[in-house]
Amino acid sequence: MGAMLLDGKACAADLEIRLKEQISSCKIQPHLAVIIVGDDPASHVYVRNKVLSCERLGIKSTHISLPAETEQDFIAEKIRSLNADDSLHGILIQSPLPPHMDEEMLTELIDPRKDVDGFHPINLGRLVQGRVEGMVPCTPSGVMELLNWAEVELSGKKAVVIGRSFNVGMPQALLLAAKGADATVTIVHSRTVDAKAECLAADIIIAAVGRPGMVKSDWIKPGAVVIDVGINRVDDSTRERGWRLAGDVDPEVQEVASLLSPVPGGVGPMTVAMLMANTVKSATFLQD
Ligand code: NAP
Repeated sequence: MGAMLLDGKACAADLEIRLKEQISSCKIQPHLAVIIVGDDPASHVYVRNKVLSCERLGIKSTHISLPAETEQDFIAEKIRSLNADDSLHGILIQSPLPPHMDEEMLTELIDPRKDVDGFHPINLGRLVQGRVEGMVPCTPSGVMELLNWAEVELSGKKAVVIGRSFNVGMPQALLLAAKGADATVTIVHSRTVDAKAECLAADIIIAAVGRPGMVKSDWIKPGAVVIDVGINRVDDSTRERGWRLAGDVDPEVQEVASLLSPVPGGVGPMTVAMLMANTVKSATFLQD
């Protein structure tokens, strides 16, 4: 029997119901500012989805769209003024920024309490300390929410995270290993000698690589849970637009796994929902 597909849209919709209740009991309206620089079409789609989610939930959003040639100092000044604006609770810089900009430096300028992406070193540092009450990066926390929603037992299980980026793989590994989740975690990266052997030993695999179809069905222990974080654009002449989205996991994995998150419709909707959750968290904290 094939794997059950983990419906990220349904899980995100359940979370949105809870968030609406929290928003209705907030003394203030949560307010998110999204800064986008340049005209990368995929980034503009992501920002539009975030703004639409805000509208659905009753979160105020301010969309700041700037041309690619904007000076870095201008963005830095903009972040400082958003930090000082008491009516605003979340600040997000849509990645990637144009190459002449120092994304790390600009992220560090964001007030950590308003850092709804969870990428500020203070928030990532708290995660290392096992403190998840602050801003936790949205994609890995969305994966945790999805696993919890599907009632996947993590304690004592062997988990493999493929990828060690600061925004997905590394915080994902920390969240799985944190007290309360209690998985035993292996991180696979580009220098790992035998990624297949590591995966075959795992009860849970989280693939966050950026290589379409890399994780094959013969990498999977029968009955394992597989979460596909990858979002890759691959050529597809059967589609009018000439491309489609593909994950890091080969669709044939469905024949072997017990649960599989699809792409699209798995982790993607959870990432946006967790951004909303972080904005509500920040507004709740800052209102007092
Ligand atoms: P990234 O910064 O490029 O990191 C990729 C990671 O994969 C690196 O740690 C790299 O290892 C590792 N890697 C590369 N080739 C490998 C190989 N052959 N074997 C094992 N590991 C390998 O990417 P990212 O930002 O983490 O994103 C990963 C994927 O998730 C992308 O497809 C991205 O589009 C997607 N994504 C999805 C969401 C969502 O909402 N669903 C959100 C964010 C990202 P090294 O460190 O050794 O180089």
